[in-house]
Amino acid sequence: MHPPERLDRFMARANTIYYATHDPFADFTTSPEISQVFGEILGLWAAVVWRMLGSPGPVLLAEAGPGRGTLMADALRAIGRAAPDFAAALRVHLIETSPRLRTAQAARVPEAVWHDSLDTVPEAPLILLANEFLDALPIRQFVRRGDGWTERFVADGAWIEQPADNAQVPPGRGAAEGGIVELNEPARAFVAALAGRLRRHPGVALLVDYGPASSAAGDSLQALARRKPVDPLSPPGSADLTAHVDFADMAETARSAGAAVQGPVTQGAFLSALGVFQRTAALARGRSETQAAALREGTRRLTDAAAMGDLFKVLVVASPGCGTLPGFAADPGR
Ligand code: SAH
Repeated sequence: MHPPERLDRFMARANTIYYATHDPFADFTTSPEISQVFGEILGLWAAVVWRMLGSPGPVLLAEAGPGRGTLMADALRAIGRAAPDFAAALRVHLIETSPRLRTAQAARVPEAVWHDSLDTVPEAPLILLANEFLDALPIRQFVRRGDGWTERFVADGAWIEQPADNAQVPPGRGAAEGGIVELNEPARAFVAALAGRLRRHPGVALLVDYGPASSAAGDSLQALARRKPVDPLSPPGSADLTAHVDFADMAETARSAGAAVQGPVTQGAFLSALGVFQRTAALARGRSETQAAALREGTRRLTDAAAMGDLFKVLVVASPGCGTLPGFAADPGR
């Protein structure tokens, strides 16, 4: 018998083992791994944003949770071709806790400087990218019981509930009896720290993840092993644990900490506004029919509402007074 472990502590422990011992991409795939156009478009977006910020130099091009380093490598390649002045001004900083993934990142982005957290990233003008970073951070879950709440713990591979401090439960999610409300404290802390930096120095953070635009009750904890859903309470480290990102909560956290927010918009709308179909067509020209079809299929998966286009959202946290950024026009083309 182990003492009961609060869900966020279980999830943190499980994911630390998981990311240290697995190639996560055998178990799930992500937008940068689906298509090179994802990282290229984010890189070109960063170049346009850098000019809107007044072309500061040096500027940090940072990424949180860079996985295999694919997004950053694709972004840097596109930036090098289209915006050599930005390429010369930027310094790459990667926030990554897994030694194993740092090694993979170093093979693709050898010039990077690594950090365990945002805390040690230098204070400077900043453009930060993150794809599927916040969803990997550990959540707490509260269960509506009568007039109050309990909190979910894990004991010997099974769920148990213990009395909760009602004041910690995020309000306004409308959970019925037995319904679950989630709280991602490290995501809030990350966004609040980011907002503080963006108040002190010009910059933006582009946060791409999966989850609803408005807060709602519900259990979104998901475990994947070999691309199939498994029990989240499988032995720690045997599966990748993620949960929906509450974009309304992230936006509120950023605003309360003094930053501006744009979006969230859907990934499909964002990539379309930035010309993903034109870029895909241009890349496909001069390739074999098989390669061209693979590029088109990748873009379809990233943008199609039934695939990743609607569930994935893009949120910007920015310095106050930053103009409307590409992809975030109030009423895109309608
Ligand atoms: N962005 C990549 C990888 C997503 S997987 C992609 O889209 O393919 C989540 C990433 O976040 C992994 O690189 C994982 O090691 C990293 N990560 C998870 N928790 C972290 C933490 N607390 N601090 C820093 N990195 C973390």
